[in-house]
Amino acid sequence: MKMIDLRSDTVTRPTPGMLEAISSAKVGDDVYGDDPTVIAFEAKVASLFGKEAGLFTATGSIANQLGIRSLIKPGEELLADERAHVVRAELGAAAVLSGVTTRTFHSPKSRIDAHSAIALAHPNAGPYLVSTVAIAVENTHNFGGGVVQDIEAIEKLHQLATPLGIKLHLDGARIWNAHVATKVPFERYGACFETVSVCFSKGLGAPIGSMLLSTRERIEDARIWRKRFGGGMRQVGLLAAAADYGLTHHLGRLAKDHSNAKRIAEAISSIDSRLVDLDTVETNIVGIDLKSTRTNATDFAKKLNESGVLSGALGSHYLRLVTHGDLAATDIDEAIGVITHSLQSVL
Ligand SMILES: *Cc1c(COP(=O)(O)O)cnc(C)c1O
Repeated sequence: MKMIDLRSDTVTRPTPGMLEAISSAKVGDDVYGDDPTVIAFEAKVASLFGKEAGLFTATGSIANQLGIRSLIKPGEELLADERAHVVRAELGAAAVLSGVTTRTFHSPKSRIDAHSAIALAHPNAGPYLVSTVAIAVENTHNFGGGVVQDIEAIEKLHQLATPLGIKLHLDGARIWNAHVATKVPFERYGACFETVSVCFSKGLGAPIGSMLLSTRERIEDARIWRKRFGGGMRQVGLLAAAADYGLTHHLGRLAKDHSNAKRIAEAISSIDSRLVDLDTVETNIVGIDLKSTRTNATDFAKKLNESGVLSGALGSHYLRLVTHGDLAATDIDEAIGVITHSLQSVL
């Protein structure tokens, strides 16, 4: 049986054009600093976001952790939304690798509210309480169902944080999707954040690759820490070429991923509007809330799997579906058929 894979946009395989870009890439040894393809690509992405420098990394988690490490000293504090990838899906790396503590704030429907984030902050707390030095913002918000953070809310947060000496980190694994959904220029996002991480291995379709963007000084230091974390890579131009191809040729296709997600969400909502919050389906992620049904996420994912659809059980009653460029229109039709039919049997 052919499986329709809606677990994540990370499942995308390199396209023929991308494979061609990989095979013709000029490479060197990046640990010695002489891989021309990765050097050019780091400069290109940095300038896209109005940043001085970039550092190519194997994963988005390393990029986030290098950013966090750069901003926060051991024993100091990062604030993040309660569903943020940096606190839920990086396995405690900020604590384990950098001695950083975290506290979380609530964002209504995972949309950041500048005032509630700042209300939790305690900068320069002295010798008794933990000092807040950075706040992370995730855009789009993965476990929030792919919601886009409002640029005005981000700018407000930046405006409130700056006089407190608090720096902002952007977990922009899917900033591409936010940009395609809103047309907000990358530079406008970049202007609010001291450090930015982006992923090429999601909707853009590269097999591997992320990047940290910041000032030249922070990136030079992050290069040292990347090696210390075991993340220095040699002929990495092969991967940078794939990522560059994805950014150049696949950014446009994200709009299709978004309309496909909307179609799936609308079909599910038409069965029972409690199953999906259509208001949050702004990009390529559909979160199904199974609380009103007779099943749970694990059992329902198994049921879909038996009918040829792969999904992600991310909470006891929360199932995630992610659209991406490897899905044909017929796959979407078929998935909608399987999902709606399966849901009807558990209502
Ligand atoms: C995918 C993702 C990352 C990085 O994940 P890796 O698997 O480490 O590449 C970081 N943040 C968010 C929000 C993500 O969705």
